[in-house]
Amino acid sequence: MALVKYPFLIPDLPDPALWINKYRKSYDAGQFSNFGPLSTELENQMTERYCSPGYSAVACSSATSGLAVALLSKFQPGQTIAVSNFTFAATYQAIRMARLEPILIDIDPETLEISIASLDQACQTTSIDGVVAVRPYGIIGDNTQLHSYCSSAGLPVVVDGAAGLGGSRFPKIGSHHEEIEVVSLHATKTFGIGEGGIIFCPTPLVPSIRSRLNFGILPNRRYQSGINGKMDELHAAVGLAQLSRIGDLQRFREKVAKRYFELFSLLDGIQLPTLVPQGTAWNMFPVVFRDILAENVITVAAKHGIETRRYYWPTISEGATEDVAQPVSLRNSEEISRAVVCFPVYTAKAGDLLKGLFQTMENDLLPALYNK
Ligand SMILES: *Cc1c(COP(=O)(O)O)cnc(C)c1O
Repeated sequence: MALVKYPFLIPDLPDPALWINKYRKSYDAGQFSNFGPLSTELENQMTERYCSPGYSAVACSSATSGLAVALLSKFQPGQTIAVSNFTFAATYQAIRMARLEPILIDIDPETLEISIASLDQACQTTSIDGVVAVRPYGIIGDNTQLHSYCSSAGLPVVVDGAAGLGGSRFPKIGSHHEEIEVVSLHATKTFGIGEGGIIFCPTPLVPSIRSRLNFGILPNRRYQSGINGKMDELHAAVGLAQLSRIGDLQRFREKVAKRYFELFSLLDGIQLPTLVPQGTAWNMFPVVFRDILAENVITVAAKHGIETRRYYWPTISEGATEDVAQPVSLRNSEEISRAVVCFPVYTAKAGDLLKGLFQTMENDLLPALYNK
């Protein structure tokens, strides 16, 4: 196997020089966690940037802990949650952590998002108390139909938008009634800081969310269900520095995505993320291969030094070791999950690799796959 010339992930976090002085303030004050000044500042900036009036950002230790806590705040143990079968393991784990019962729902094969028809079908036979939707690969699609379906059915929605933060078109939270969205600041995402997350929620929910991020401790010292999911000051300092770079990072990623579109648009038998609005974070570039096995694509790419990855494979239905309720057909999610290969999207930091990457794709990988 050839050496990896083009790694799948080249995280781009801010240089310590950009945050060390900020962190020093917390350091000198001796406050390192528990809703300190830097995490509060990060929350305020995130609120200003991404929230409509009446909605707030709460910093947390990861998207997984943020999802679990959002679910704990919104639902009672034992309630049932319809969830897209096409997602990362974390979505499922957060539902289990909140002691809720996942009900698997298929996806729309075009958008790769939860299918409203499939959700509606599940509701006919199964009692469902809420919905967890996913922004696949961080692609920011239009959720309006889902939200209106759920609001007329009386179903609260929590959106796992983990890979979605960073794009200029990240929607204003609060455009849909009572919406909650959780994003990840993991090093591998577009808005990377190491480990971290943000919960966007209606402001009245903030005290419950903060309590549950802090062991569930209540003002009277009793404790409801909760975890330790707080963001510490060091990560908040990195987050504040990343916030000032994120526009540049995303604009570069968008250019890379555009080159992938140009490259792949010549081919038949593939599905590209074409329903993607300008300004998506472009964490990676997912391609659904209809005529070629994903395994072949990955092997041939590796021969030419390109590292690719499969995400959302296996699906929850095929990956979870515990039994999960499956009231509807999951054919679309299972088939597409087997057929997706994700290609790397770099920032300017790794910009010198791009020329070689696209030359190799065009001159070696695509001809090898399509025998041209
Ligand atoms: C990355 C990811 C997560 C997990 O985020 P963490 O911050 O690492 O916990 C959850 N859901 C989806 C869809 C993801 O892509």
